[in-house]
Amino acid sequence: MARDQRDYFYRKAKEHGYRARSAYKLQQINQRFHLIQKGDKILDLGAAPGGWLQVAKEISLGTVVGVDLEGIKPIDGVTTIVADITKEETLKKIYQALDGPADVVICDAAPNLTGHWTLDHSRSIDLSRSALAVAKKVLKPGGNFLVKVFQGDTFREYLFEAKEEFRVARSHSPAASRKESAEMYVVGLGLLKAPVKVGDEIDLDIVETGKSGDGLAFVEGFKVFVPGAKKGEIVRAKITDVRPNYAIGDLK
Ligand code: SAM
Repeated sequence: MARDQRDYFYRKAKEHGYRARSAYKLQQINQRFHLIQKGDKILDLGAAPGGWLQVAKEISLGTVVGVDLEGIKPIDGVTTIVADITKEETLKKIYQALDGPADVVICDAAPNLTGHWTLDHSRSIDLSRSALAVAKKVLKPGGNFLVKVFQGDTFREYLFEAKEEFRVARSHSPAASRKESAEMYVVGLGLLKAPVKVGDEIDLDIVETGKSGDGLAFVEGFKVFVPGAKKGEIVRAKITDVRPNYAIGDLK
């Protein structure tokens, strides 16, 4: 991105009272993917100085929690925690602040850059992996995820890891990102949190009939639809599709 354009986002941020020009990255990503909806509970990892927190709060008007190694100047209606997102003990503080599962986890955390491409990339991947681990724990089933990753050798591997956890996962670079920057964002939509996976063969107690006439069973409270099965039957089924809120099983 040309310097005058970079300055454009910098000036715009100042003018609108955003703490960081990165606020526009979140706005642009959200316009495209609709990650954050009104009323959502949001966790922001690596949140200082707070530009994303400001945007997240504006969009959701709900609970917003930010975590950073650095302190964050107060933002109305936003809770902040000074902690390291790679540390296990931080989770406890996050759970307390969120007070229930999050709808969206966003992470713009960046390591201190050394200028050594490989080292910076591997540190960034470590942070992104920590963010994914936190997201898997705190997100509700079907929840959304956004994380910054510096491009490099293991970027594809990381994207693949995200694809395993979300209904849809893809990489994206918003217009507000500098062209010369190595940063890329990974967007994960619809956390898959199912107690079954594709290929599982299980016995199911069909307790209801779904709206479209399929047999419906529950596995640990999770819906499994079995076309052709009838209420009252116990059937063996092979799971063929897993969505954030339900799975499909084929009669064996
Ligand atoms: N999105 C933010 C905004 O709009 O204001 C900007 C985030 S800034 C680019 C990256 C942040 O990641 C820094 O404030 C840094 O302290 C934080 N960070 C890096 N490693 C971290 C870690 N292990 N735990 C928590 N925060 C971390």
